[in-house]
Amino acid sequence: MGSIYCVPVGNVNKDMITMAERYLNGMFGMHVESCSPMPDPLFALDEKRKQYSSTLILRKLAERRDDRAVRYLGLTELDLYIPMLTFVYGQAQLSLPTDPVFAHGRVAVVSLARLAPEFYELPPDRDLTARRARKEIAHEIGHTLGLVHCGNRSCLMSLATEILELDMKSQDFCRDCWNKLQENLTLLGAETNHRENLES
Ligand SMILES: [Zn+2]
Ligand SMILES: [Zn+2]
Repeated sequence: MGSIYCVPVGNVNKDMITMAERYLNGMFGMHVESCSPMPDPLFALDEKRKQYSSTLILRKLAERRDDRAVRYLGLTELDLYIPMLTFVYGQAQLSLPTDPVFAHGRVAVVSLARLAPEFYELPPDRDLTARRARKEIAHEIGHTLGLVHCGNRSCLMSLATEILELDMKSQDFCRDCWNKLQENLTLLGAETNHRENLES
């Protein structure tokens, strides 16, 4: 059904990229491809905030058109924001009405900047950082696969605006979100197979 393409945005720790790729493959059962990095996205830098606009990065990612990519995950160590909020851990394109085949949106971006304990002046803990990253990645890719925020606080699709909320979540989707995800993955598979048949 096509692949998820993992795009480093700026300089990103290689171990984190490998971790993300393996995780995406295991969690969503989709093929994952490494991708050429997006150079430091200066176009998205807000000089005053010293942060990068996640919306502008999403737009840039959405311009990519690799042959078999059905979803793009941008992974960055830069600190992201949207104008309304002090920061965001990630953002996803929820829908793309101009593209009827992929009505759920194709791109997501996740920031690692605030996931390491060091950010909160705590001792380094690579496992904790990776666990938080996996939760954010699953959450944002979940949005691109048609999932919305879930009221179940332990579900991956619950909204986390601070690190404690992120830590409170489990590493799983609740049953409802999981079922919806499987439904949407089936639809996506049918759509992309159909498209591949038309193209070949
Ligand atoms: Zn969300
Ligand atoms: Zn849920």
